[in-house]
Amino acid sequence: MEHKLIIYNTLTRKKEKFVPLHPDIVGMYVCGPTVYSDVHLGNCRTFVSFDLIFRYLLYLGYKVRYVRNITDAGHLEGDQDEGDDKFAKKAKLLQLEPMEIVQKYTIGFHDVLRMFNTLPPSIEPTATGHISEQIEMVQDIIKNGFAYEVNGSVYFDVDKYIKENNYTILTNRNLEDMLNNTRELGGQDEKRGRLDFALWIKAKPEHIMRWPSPWGIGFPGWHIECSAMSRKYLGDQFDIHGGGMDLAATHHTNEIAQSQACNHTTPAQYWMHTNMLTVNGARMSKSSGNGFLPGELFTGNHPLLEKGYSPMAVRFFMLQAHYRSTLDFSNEALDAADKGYKRLMTAVNLLDKIPASKSTSIVDFNQLKLRAFAAMDDDFNSPVLIAELFEVVRIINSLFDGKLTITASDLQELKDFIQQTVFDILGLKDDQINDADNIDDLMQIIINIRNEAKTNKDFVTSDRIRQHLSSIGIQLKDNKEGTLWNKI
Ligand code: AMP
Ligand code: ZN
Repeated sequence: MEHKLIIYNTLTRKKEKFVPLHPDIVGMYVCGPTVYSDVHLGNCRTFVSFDLIFRYLLYLGYKVRYVRNITDAGHLEGDQDEGDDKFAKKAKLLQLEPMEIVQKYTIGFHDVLRMFNTLPPSIEPTATGHISEQIEMVQDIIKNGFAYEVNGSVYFDVDKYIKENNYTILTNRNLEDMLNNTRELGGQDEKRGRLDFALWIKAKPEHIMRWPSPWGIGFPGWHIECSAMSRKYLGDQFDIHGGGMDLAATHHTNEIAQSQACNHTTPAQYWMHTNMLTVNGARMSKSSGNGFLPGELFTGNHPLLEKGYSPMAVRFFMLQAHYRSTLDFSNEALDAADKGYKRLMTAVNLLDKIPASKSTSIVDFNQLKLRAFAAMDDDFNSPVLIAELFEVVRIINSLFDGKLTITASDLQELKDFIQQTVFDILGLKDDQINDADNIDDLMQIIINIRNEAKTNKDFVTSDRIRQHLSSIGIQLKDNKEGTLWNKI
């Protein structure tokens, strides 16, 4: 099947044909978590979205280098050079080393993403592991005339940059408005311009996370880490840079300026931004305190929740919305997703029980496949793919009921399609399977006992077996090949 992948590029505000810089190879950088507290469900939405994108690029046959960083230093509370260091503050509060905080929440982040069945990135670099690369980049920016040092801190000279470059290229914001709306921020007395931002910050005596640099003891600004690490692992120019939409206006805008000032090129060809997970219309965030932790959702242990949902039902809930649409959290929406996910898995599990026939009576399966992949080619439209999969669920149920027939080779094609879309691309797995690892073997034993009873004309026993199974939601179907079972 020929694929023509189209990606919505924030940089051009258009959907564009995806043409990687090197044929068959894709470099993708995604801003990872700031590991000073538990990841909430909103963060997970962004990482699940990029997992879908990573998986689809792999499915298309690209060799993908997927770099997703861990921010473990330099991120101040206000995102714009003001406030305490997030790690140092938490470390003081809990009387721990900052690196104990980093370790605890990095492990937690990995555990959660594993539950959501996301694939690990190819490289997961940390800010603290790349201090020398960040210092080197700051030096290059100073050398090129786009940064200046004041009293041990280094600032990016936005005024100078604006003269030769389009600073707001990513969001197309009006510079005048930006200037008028800028608050008095950290280091403002040292900054030449109101929009200047810190590349390196002089450490106050009480600041615990500190490193030597050509400008004295300090720590890197938040934005420089991603520019330095993307340059190191993907080169001056690479294919895709991603993150949540909230990062575009400041973090990514500054990343572009830093990379351009250092390397004389815009770093990424395609900028991709995921939309926010909201609760009653408000963005879920750590600081507003409306964040659900994934664990609370799985157990149902949260005042806003009526019950718990499995990680795969939650993943399905996320994939049912396009990554550029907001997704609002509600019990009803989760319930519907849970039902949909179970319906899909029940049908997938019937596939092995469908007998092959001499002919296939399904019409237009090829058209359905084309539509499903066309949706993914159209900027990774997973909700449309899922809608097509529900057509497949109807087909599978009709095959199981004997209303449709299928040949052995068409059945294999159907199974391959399910493997590719449900498991490889959407990254779902059957999380009900563990409850019933050997349910097939158990059911075969019960079916054999019932058949023996029937052979012995002991219809009281055979009927009782059928009725008891039916009362726990298992239905038996007798046909020429034998007895089949399914959950209802
Ligand atoms: P942070 O740990 O705050 O640096 O965020 C990690 C990633 O999660 C970033 O790409 C954010 O844009 C993203 N993110 C934060 N809040 C949300 C949300 N409510 N919905 C979707 N993504 C989010
Ligand atoms: Zn970043």
